[in-house]
Amino acid sequence: MYLRELTQSVSTLKGAGPSICARLARLGIYTVADLLLRAPRDYEDRSRAVSFREALKTGSPANTVGVVAAHDWFGYGRSRTLKILVDDGSATASLVCFNRAFLADRHPPGSRVRVTGTLALRFNELQSASFEIEAAAEGQGPEAGILPIYPLTDGLAQGTVRRLAARALSEYGRRAEDELPVRVRELRGLPHKARALEELHAPSSPEAAEQAHRALAYEELFYLQILVRRRAAARAERPVDRPSAAPGRAGLRERLVERLPFRLTPDQERVAAEIAADMERPRPMARLLQGDVGSGKTLVAFLAVLKAVESGGQAALMAPTELLARQHAQTAARLLEPLGVRLAFLTGNLKDASRRPLLAALAAGEVDLVLGTHALFSEDVEYRRLALAVVDEQHRFGVLQRLALARKGGVPDLLMMSATPIPRTLALTVYGDLEVSTIRAMPPGRKPVITHLARQGNESKVYEFVRKELAQGRQAYFVYPLITESEASELKNAQDMARNLAEKVYPGIPGGLIHSRLPDEEKRSVMEAFTRGELRYLVATSVVEVGVDVAAATCMVIEHAERFGLAALHQLRGRVGRSDAQSYCFLVYSGNLTEDGKRRLKAMMETTDGFLLAEEDLRIRGPGEIAGIAQSGSLRLAFADPVRDADLLEAAREDAARIVERDPGLLEPEHRVIREVLERANPFPAESSGA
Ligand code: ADP
Ligand code: MG
Repeated sequence: MYLRELTQSVSTLKGAGPSICARLARLGIYTVADLLLRAPRDYEDRSRAVSFREALKTGSPANTVGVVAAHDWFGYGRSRTLKILVDDGSATASLVCFNRAFLADRHPPGSRVRVTGTLALRFNELQSASFEIEAAAEGQGPEAGILPIYPLTDGLAQGTVRRLAARALSEYGRRAEDELPVRVRELRGLPHKARALEELHAPSSPEAAEQAHRALAYEELFYLQILVRRRAAARAERPVDRPSAAPGRAGLRERLVERLPFRLTPDQERVAAEIAADMERPRPMARLLQGDVGSGKTLVAFLAVLKAVESGGQAALMAPTELLARQHAQTAARLLEPLGVRLAFLTGNLKDASRRPLLAALAAGEVDLVLGTHALFSEDVEYRRLALAVVDEQHRFGVLQRLALARKGGVPDLLMMSATPIPRTLALTVYGDLEVSTIRAMPPGRKPVITHLARQGNESKVYEFVRKELAQGRQAYFVYPLITESEASELKNAQDMARNLAEKVYPGIPGGLIHSRLPDEEKRSVMEAFTRGELRYLVATSVVEVGVDVAAATCMVIEHAERFGLAALHQLRGRVGRSDAQSYCFLVYSGNLTEDGKRRLKAMMETTDGFLLAEEDLRIRGPGEIAGIAQSGSLRLAFADPVRDADLLEAAREDAARIVERDPGLLEPEHRVIREVLERANPFPAESSGA
């Protein structure tokens, strides 16, 4: 029996009543398989007895058996607190039972108990406030093996999950069949599935637990790689028909370049040529364009769009937020419309009355370039001949959205753009067949943004500095972590600060407020007024984080900067420094910085290089989140971490490649799991029944 076929509810396990099941559901555990595949977040080694005396001497947690010598109470009324004194023969420890008075009845004086916990010498007493205690049978020793520590939720006890997992293991897990092909398992020296599950939940040693995690991680990466490889192979097999030049559409790219007020940088020229060459090959392009914030990726994307239009195709450009999509639409209107390129703008907010004619025009091929949000790829959108799909700020989109994209209207060329550089190994994990182009140098004349740290309390100096910039015709952003006042938080918020800045700090200077909860109409008019320079400063949340491009803005003030992630800080700082004027970024932080908060601010002070910051981010946060693979539906990685497990990833890549491309014989014909994965991996499900 395959583990993934264990779809019966956890409620079939003895001891799992409705309220426990409801709590397990909050952890995403519904079936027996979910429970068996829940990785303990850590283990506690109780395989060795540690007496109270030894614990005090060595500092390691006690793990011992003793007798309750007495109860003791201190405090009054509601704060009356129980102490249980336990003597294990080496010493007497006092267990302080905050809010656990019920333990008095459970462990009366004279009863035998097992105790684990950390101890400290306090008020001349050996004390523990963080301990576990349970009744011990006569003759029972303290050794209890290695215990799993599961992630929990409110009202769910560690002991409950342990008991249920143990039950699931003995009733089902030990009979689990291998899902990996036998030959792969032998080649990689991986344990049998049933064995891995057993060592996961009831390890015989710390090393065995580690082995089990690696085996399960390998398995996840293996299936991920099968998916990715299969998708890559399918793309490569697909010839694309590339019509020659469309009448009246020649030379669009040259005309765009001529009209620009500046020259393309050598990097822009190089990557544009790489992309153009891809778009002439007989197989569809899948390319990631990396380049730091402000390096000029949009223009490169437009050149690719024109290339598609020159040969009579349509292009779609998708941005993660409506704000950014709209800005791209405006840039396109300025740069492309004069060349005769027919544009449309499509977001989820478009009313039916205007949406219907737009969809009709798209399907009839009367639109050359459509810009918008992920609504561009919803079910009812049809293209006449989608030749190119551009995804801006692709790290904001999940893997699944990218899959959906691949299904639209045959196989378009795919250009993904990101300012968050992805390590190559990780890129390969997610895309398999992805080529990468990188813009390294910024357009000429840019001065690096000067970054200042300011402690909260000194922000009036920052405001004064900004006032001088505003007086010279420059513009500024003020960014806050919250939109509006929150009871739970002392943080400054955008709404109140917009009022405060307007009334007290910059009276007479027009400013605007923008955040995600404003009506679209208002967002648009505020953004446009700021772009035109009518609003001199903009108070915002991180909605302005991605893509916003207003060259006259030279000041970025981020208050409660410690609350923002490194990628967000870098993106926010990237909103300024977009012209040859000197720009400034002020990171205003409030006290009580966490370690991570400190590291982030320090990194921001040390470099403006997005690649270095991305690496540091990777170290602080771990990779899953960065590549957008943490929450990507069926590709969820619970055990594997593509960066930490780089060696496993490499092995899984090799094995998957062998199976998909060279040696499907490795695959036993009856291997249902892989066939199912291959089925899912087919990116062209509707058309490919015979393929
Ligand atoms: P990003 O790579 O972050 O998407 P943008 O495409 O928004 O960057 O470009 C940032 C700014 O740089 C824009 O205002 C754009 O007009 C300008 N820009 C792009 N290419 C050049 C160039 N070769 N020379 C000067 N300015 C450029
Ligand atoms: Mg951009």
